[in-house]
Amino acid sequence: MSDSLKINLTILPEEGLHLTFSEDDAWFKECFSGGEPPDFTLTGVDVDCLVSRSGDTIYIRGRLAGRIRQACDRCLEQADVAIGGDFVYTLVPEKAETAEERELTAEELETSYYRGDFIDLAPLICEEIVLQVPMKILCSEQCKGLCPNCGVNLNTGSCNCRREMTDERLAALKNFRVKN
Ligand SMILES: [Zn+2]
Ligand SMILES: [Zn+2]
Repeated sequence: MSDSLKINLTILPEEGLHLTFSEDDAWFKECFSGGEPPDFTLTGVDVDCLVSRSGDTIYIRGRLAGRIRQACDRCLEQADVAIGGDFVYTLVPEKAETAEERELTAEELETSYYRGDFIDLAPLICEEIVLQVPMKILCSEQCKGLCPNCGVNLNTGSCNCRREMTDERLAALKNFRVKN
């Protein structure tokens, strides 16, 4: 599958190339084989995109919808989260000087580069998946999390810590009233 995401620009049709594909976690992790992979599992992703060109500039417009699995930030149980959204990439041929170390202008930072006659969509899609993952992962908005005192998962169990804390506060309040 991954080879079919390499676009041969020399045979790109005038009207653009419409691509739909589905990928899984093994494909996703391959994108990061040279570095540190993200700590979530990609349960699956569906991508729909159009690759078109205007002169040397290549446009990739599309949308993705997927699901990821990661530990909930509050209770640490595995949480399934839907991700998705639209994306746009603009790619221009890499000039010799842009490859060198120098300050990039704001416009250049929003532009990606390609070299030769091929564009590999895989790294772009993988980057987009990472960008679409929310900062905070919750198994549910109502997740009660772990008890900060004894560590019990308050979604599935209970403990006496909270009650004791409340009793202490009540006791303090009673003393306060008595003193008045
Ligand atoms: Zn949770
Ligand atoms: Zn507790």
